[in-house]
Amino acid sequence: MAAGVWCESFASKTLFLWAFGAGVYNEIMEEEIMEKIILTGDRPTGKLHIGHYVGSLKRRVELQNSGNYDEIFIMIADAQALTDNADNPEKVRQNIIEVALDYLSCGLDPKKSTLFIQSQVPELCELTTFYMNLVTVSRLQRNPTVKSEIKMRNFEASIPVGFFNYPISQASDITAFKATTVPVGEDQLPMLEQTKEIVRKFNSTYGDTLIEPDILLPDNEACLRLPGTDGKAKMSKSLNNCIYLSDTEEEVRQKVMGMYTDPDHIKVSDPGKVEGNTVFTYLDAFCKEEHFERYLSEYKNLDELKAHYMRGGLGDVKVKKFLNAVIQEELAPIRARRKELEGQIPEIYDILKEGCKKARAKAAETVNEVKDAMKINYFEDGDLIKEQVERYKK
Ligand code: ATP
Ligand code: MG
Repeated sequence: MAAGVWCESFASKTLFLWAFGAGVYNEIMEEEIMEKIILTGDRPTGKLHIGHYVGSLKRRVELQNSGNYDEIFIMIADAQALTDNADNPEKVRQNIIEVALDYLSCGLDPKKSTLFIQSQVPELCELTTFYMNLVTVSRLQRNPTVKSEIKMRNFEASIPVGFFNYPISQASDITAFKATTVPVGEDQLPMLEQTKEIVRKFNSTYGDTLIEPDILLPDNEACLRLPGTDGKAKMSKSLNNCIYLSDTEEEVRQKVMGMYTDPDHIKVSDPGKVEGNTVFTYLDAFCKEEHFERYLSEYKNLDELKAHYMRGGLGDVKVKKFLNAVIQEELAPIRARRKELEGQIPEIYDILKEGCKKARAKAAETVNEVKDAMKINYFEDGDLIKEQVERYKK
């Protein structure tokens, strides 16, 4: 809270205290004073795609520019990426800059958001070590996202411990920055649940120290888990079913024109299904009414287009061309900004280095508080030594 606002409202707060008593006042004060902090991030396993964009990135930029948050931390999760890419550190190393370029070209602003790299904040590992004692193996085994990711990566026979453990490490990332808000896609729900459980367990065991975060999912249902262009699973860097933010205009066009639709919609006159039809899911995610005026003025809105498709007489190619125009409009400015930024690589590393310094300072504060709460602050706690001196005097 800005000091000016604080002073201005001081008189009314004093009156409030007089009228209602200190207990209620303290509670309200605590709520008012609690900072609003965002932590979120991405694994540097590839360039970012339009699933990231609608699922999290676009929202982050809006939240950043809303002015409603005291601090925003955006993490490139390289240590997490290594949990299933241990044999390919070069892939992770090369993709740090790709993710950073995507961030900046979408509008994340290092003056407003701290962009940093996970492995450069070793305090996060310390927290993970302590939190590991608060979680059971069977609880991790029940995590549905980890379960499906293990299957996807053929890890069933031998799961790397680091991979199995990543929900705990994610709890460290979130709590280290005292995040109150975590804007992510739907696949992260089980991770947030795990984090909340760890926070509650920690606070009840060692005393109130950590902040329980809230997940912020996209408002639009289609953006919760954008499917891949193959229509099979979620769009994911590891599955080669992505439209990347940095794809050229022609690459995007080709991917859109080759997209999965309704396999039973063979002739234009056939009635088609819009549910499970990836082209319509993408339109749900990206299309606004104004796009119809610009690119397909025979329809007023998406409902009209869907109705025509469902009763038959509307071909896939026409819908795909429209989708292509809509996506190109969204991606063109991002692509142009990326071109400029690609000429500023050393400056981008400077931004990340600065971000790591800031992130480290914040995480170190939390680690100190955690160690105090756990009473593993031997050298800082004068009482401990005094007490033991007294004990041996007897
Ligand atoms: P990987 O395959 O390496 O796990 P990924 O494509 O799943 O990569 P992440 O870095 O794991 O990407 O996810 C980063 C963020 O983007 C998370 O908040 C996640 O929820 C969101 N996200 C990823 N894919 C999608 C998607 N298809 N739809 C909506 N949100 C998504
Ligand atoms: Mg993922």
